[in-house]
Amino acid sequence: MAANFNDLGQLMKLAQNIDMKQLANLSEKVNLEELIGMVSSMDERTLAQMTNFMRKQKRAKNGDGRELPPVTGDFFDLRSTFSDEQRAVQDTVRDFMETHVQPIANEYWQKDTFPRHLIDEMRKLHILPKIFHADGTRTHDAAVMEGIVTMEMARIDVSTATFFGVHGGLALWSMVMAGTEEQKQEWLPKMLNLDVIGAFGLTEPKVGSAISQGMRTTCRREGDTWVLNGEKKWIGNATFADMIIIWARDEDTDEVRGFLVRPENPGYHVDKIENKIALRMVENGHVTLTDCAVPESDHLSAMNGWSTVAEILRQTRAGVAWQGVGCAMGAYEHSARYARKRKQFGRPIGAFQLIQDKLVFMLGNVTAMQTMCLRLAEMQDAGTMRDEHASLAKVFTAARCRDTVALARDLHGGNGILLEHDVARFFCDTEAIYSYEGTNEINSLVVGRAITGQSAFA
Ligand SMILES: Cc1cc2nc3c(=O)[nH]c(=O)nc-3n(C[C@H](O)[C@H](O)[C@H](O)COP(=O)(O)OP(=O)(O)OC[C@H]3O[C@@H](n4cnc5c(N)ncnc54)[C@H](O)[C@@H]3O)c2cc1C
Repeated sequence: MAANFNDLGQLMKLAQNIDMKQLANLSEKVNLEELIGMVSSMDERTLAQMTNFMRKQKRAKNGDGRELPPVTGDFFDLRSTFSDEQRAVQDTVRDFMETHVQPIANEYWQKDTFPRHLIDEMRKLHILPKIFHADGTRTHDAAVMEGIVTMEMARIDVSTATFFGVHGGLALWSMVMAGTEEQKQEWLPKMLNLDVIGAFGLTEPKVGSAISQGMRTTCRREGDTWVLNGEKKWIGNATFADMIIIWARDEDTDEVRGFLVRPENPGYHVDKIENKIALRMVENGHVTLTDCAVPESDHLSAMNGWSTVAEILRQTRAGVAWQGVGCAMGAYEHSARYARKRKQFGRPIGAFQLIQDKLVFMLGNVTAMQTMCLRLAEMQDAGTMRDEHASLAKVFTAARCRDTVALARDLHGGNGILLEHDVARFFCDTEAIYSYEGTNEINSLVVGRAITGQSAFA
């Protein structure tokens, strides 16, 4: 009697789990009554053989049916080395990027426009005060924190990371390193809260890599006013920035000086650079300065010529290395997911050895880049990072990122060149990472000089 109750219970459980829609579909293809009759007349051995056969068929079609491991670009669990505060910031930025940026990234990339409303959303995260204090000094783990933030941003969208890097890196560092105490007091709190947005104008149309030796933009003092003349090219955020840091050579002393230029200054003009194939969401400006008048109060006079600019670039170069990390991480994660979804020859493409090899190569790159940059950030926070350390990280990450996004594009087949699959954006954006904050050739030369004692620069 008890056995019968058990059987009845099992039958009821079975009946609850039956998908009636699928059963109806099946009944159109086979005679269900006949099938049930056949199965119930089978002995246990034949039933077991049949179940085994069906499992094998399912495995061949859908993978092995087991729960698949999570897709993560943090294979060596870097996160476990982060402090509670660093983890909290990582979660905040990841959530912001996935909620606010991922859904619009391709649309704005296509529109060639920066979504200004993101600034209001980003302000709510209070990220920059975790990196800089209000007086411009850095928090004890500023570089690691900045690295985590940059990696998380670039993992979804490199343009957003670049917007952040130009304002919170280049422009902010310029104010910290070259601004007077009064200027810092006025501007830093507003910059840290994203109430004003900064840009950084160093590169010129005719002089890029050689800017330390050939800057053409000039400044001359006339009473309490400085008069600036020249052009600056590629200036990120310049089309909407509230303040643009402009570097110019003193006509009298040949010294490099810094200025805080406001868009309303007479003689200042900016055109948006159109038709880029990378970082299209970042608005890069071509700035023209025609007898542009800047008051002495906006002259960043607490600096020491070119060596201050070089120091700013040394600090921010490490941040660009982290962009490569995030970009490669995003490209890998998209690929690992795609390899599970996309089926060819009746199997997910991730089941093919050549595809697995690509994924492993990509993950190896990502992991090597992460561990290198984390160590670099620790050195930066400890004050032991030298030029060649930052340059090596920039060279290595930009090159490995390029390899990784190319594999990601390839793994997506034709879909890899469609924006909607995201890796096409990563593929294009990497080209900017490769060229800015010192091209890979120039950064190689910096490392080459350090390890051979011979300078290959002209
Ligand atoms: C998307 C983007 C955003 C940018 N944002 C900013 C910004 O906000 N502010 C700013 O000031 N600048 C910005 N830049 C400019 C960037 O820093 C420069 O593009 C970069 O320094 C290279 O200069 P260039 O493009 O003039 O190339 P060039 O200096 O003309 O170099 C051309 C090629 O020659 C190589 N080369 C040059 N000299 C040597 C040498 N001695 N040995 C071997 N090879 C050499 C270079 O590596 C490169 O391959 C941005 C650039 C891009 C693409």
